[in-house]
Amino acid sequence: MISKAPRGTIDILPDKVEAWQYIENLFRRFCFLYGYKEMRTPIFEHTEIFTRGIGESTDIVEKEMYTFLDKKGRSLTLRPEFTAPVMRSIIEHSLPLSPPLKLFYMGPIFRYERPQQGRYRQAHQLGVEVLGSNSPLLDVEVIDLIIKFYDSLGLKGLSVSLNSIGCSDCRPSSRNKIIDFCRNNLDILCDNCKNRFERNPFRILDCKNATCKELAKSCPSTLDSICSACKEHFNTVTLYLDKINISYKLENSLVRGLDYYTRTVFEVLSESLGAQSSLCGGGRYDDLIEILGGKPSPGVGVAAGIERLIMVMEKQGIPSGKPQGLDLMIIPLGESSYEHAFQLITSIRKENFISADLNLVNKGLKAGLNSANKLGVSFAIIIGDIEIARGEYIIRDLKKGEQNTIKIEDIIGYLKKIYDQQSVISNQQSA
Ligand SMILES: [Zn+2]
Ligand SMILES: [Zn+2]
Repeated sequence: MISKAPRGTIDILPDKVEAWQYIENLFRRFCFLYGYKEMRTPIFEHTEIFTRGIGESTDIVEKEMYTFLDKKGRSLTLRPEFTAPVMRSIIEHSLPLSPPLKLFYMGPIFRYERPQQGRYRQAHQLGVEVLGSNSPLLDVEVIDLIIKFYDSLGLKGLSVSLNSIGCSDCRPSSRNKIIDFCRNNLDILCDNCKNRFERNPFRILDCKNATCKELAKSCPSTLDSICSACKEHFNTVTLYLDKINISYKLENSLVRGLDYYTRTVFEVLSESLGAQSSLCGGGRYDDLIEILGGKPSPGVGVAAGIERLIMVMEKQGIPSGKPQGLDLMIIPLGESSYEHAFQLITSIRKENFISADLNLVNKGLKAGLNSANKLGVSFAIIIGDIEIARGEYIIRDLKKGEQNTIKIEDIIGYLKKIYDQQSVISNQQSA
């Protein structure tokens, strides 16, 4: 069906786009306030970036990537996440990581998943990455940033799940404990876990199969087998989260679905999301840059889904930016007025201070005013033969229902005066 968008994709229609812009602008503002700069990478990358970065035996790489050969036979993949591409870019451009490099991003990601509420094949994420420091305070900063961002949107009922999965030194020991555990319970594992528990035992902890989920509860905790350096790191993270009053729950089964994580992993959950309650997730990835061929350098970050965020805002009745009405509509009364109307709108647009449009559709005043009202227009300028002959146009305030006749050459000055006053008032209100 060429008249339908592909399964798992959505159009963001004009009446919804304000919510997106509102969220994106607020996030941009937050990142700026925390000292982060925006980074944009291509939508597709060499497939190897993801197979090496995210890990061969993860759900994303095994099942969910949009991978294709280009005309020269190169394997390319639509990015299923941002972190690996951002690291690739840092390596390629030798971006300095001291002082720590703080980046944020937003844009679409692509995963061939079963579409369901809040989950799409083209989804959108926003997130941050901090490179070049292994300070646990940066783990806390990233969690704090995303929580404050959600708070400022007015989200209620959030909780933070937290875990440490250890480093390359201590991970093998917790890995082996989980492999042993899986081997002892092999007969009740799902087929998927049966196949991969030796390659990637941590997957059993976030397997969606009901039996595996139940089993995961009694699985050896990674927190019990991390080394003393990892323990100290984790203790500092929790200490500082306590200091800034961010509450969290220790979640033994939290490992995240990507291989590159080390030490701290976390998720922010919303009670409004039910079963798939994760609003965002992140953690530390101290080995990722090295895995992708760069100089070893620690990093930490978070990625948040925008669709799910909008879903929560809608469920909680949180307003997300009000639709912007048009400031001005020029209504020519018949074709003899078109030239004058066109001249006026061109000079108003050149001044770049209000949004303005020209009504070329409706014949007659009543129909013209009707469609202006439908569009939420504030002012209408009416131009007919009589007005042209007199050298004066009618400016009608559609909100107040008042109108004035203004000399053509004074119109821009008149409108500017009104909009200057309005911006003074709204500045005073927001101050
Ligand atoms: Zn360790
Ligand atoms: Zn399973």
